[in-house]
Amino acid sequence: MKNTIFLLAVILLTLSCRKFDKPGKMSEAGIVLTFDDDYVDNWYKYLPVLDSMNVKATFYVCRYYKLTPAEIHKLKIIEAHGNEIAFHTANHLNTLQYMKEHGYDQFLNLEINNELTKMRQDGFNPVSFAYPFGAHTSGTDNLLLHYFKSVRALNGTENYAKSLTKYDDGEVFYAMEMDINSKRKESVYDELLNSAKVHSNCLVLVGHKIEDGDTKMKVSLKRLKRIINKAKELNLRFYTVSEISRK
Ligand SMILES: [Zn+2]
Repeated sequence: MKNTIFLLAVILLTLSCRKFDKPGKMSEAGIVLTFDDDYVDNWYKYLPVLDSMNVKATFYVCRYYKLTPAEIHKLKIIEAHGNEIAFHTANHLNTLQYMKEHGYDQFLNLEINNELTKMRQDGFNPVSFAYPFGAHTSGTDNLLLHYFKSVRALNGTENYAKSLTKYDDGEVFYAMEMDINSKRKESVYDELLNSAKVHSNCLVLVGHKIEDGDTKMKVSLKRLKRIINKAKELNLRFYTVSEISRK
């Protein structure tokens, strides 16, 4: 009986560890902070916080064509401070549904190429892509990897280790959400950061707005700072997405 209980305990412990662990091979364990959508004013407001903590992040921008000159100027400053400006489609539609209804040619023209051209004309050169709503298949991954060095979806599962990437030349990432609506406990981030350190890999996180607004699509400043401080305590490197993507 005692042996059975012991065996059960070992199995449970192994399973719960696996949830957080993924052996990696990165020379420097790290963390990637990503933010999605078009909250440029909000991100710019909190840029001094990221700067003061010496942190680089990646901002996946959608609806670029709707940004005002003032917002584009702020995005330039965000980039000039060492952050990456990445791509999140023109209109933030569900990629799979859109392709089903309009075909992938139209998706590539209207949601990708036209918008990329606009961004390039303004001096941005996005090389990393994130799916709106995380909607993707291996087929869309293969298609979009012709245009980008990596694609990022979301990790809606309880398999937390899915958000840890093993190498610094990844192609498909599954970010763990930091926003209020993800309902993750603070301890989940701590465990994942510890795991990244121990196993030499990199944790990919995603948020939308920071602190402000009556929305659940935001990460509180308190949580963001807590994650950053924990990562610093563990000496994790703050990577941008392109730094851990296929070269
Ligand atoms: Zn989005």
